[in-house]
Amino acid sequence: MQKRPVPSFKREQIELEHCSICKGKAVVKGLFYELVCADCNGSGWVVWGSKLVLSSDELVTQLSFKLQHAQREISALKVSPPMAGPQSQYEQSNRLGAGGTNYTGD
Ligand SMILES: [Zn+2]
Repeated sequence: MQKRPVPSFKREQIELEHCSICKGKAVVKGLFYELVCADCNGSGWVVWGSKLVLSSDELVTQLSFKLQHAQREISALKVSPPMAGPQSQYEQSNRLGAGGTNYTGD
């Protein structure tokens, strides 16, 4: 078994919603270029209900939870080959590591 870094206490997943200022895009259109949205700390997300902005370190963790959830949904949508095993999982995480940028192709 591989050792994983274990936090000293369990981090709760906070429900997030799209920032209403930038509509979840994390940036707002300036006159000539896009500016990082100040209302959501450039994340596109605020706390559901209260619309509070998360601090940068909390944001990283919460966005990671969200990304992991999204990735699980994506892999659930993919048709798994009959022989899918630990090896295919390994290949998948490799691919995600290599292409893990925020580029959206807009
Ligand atoms: Zn925003």
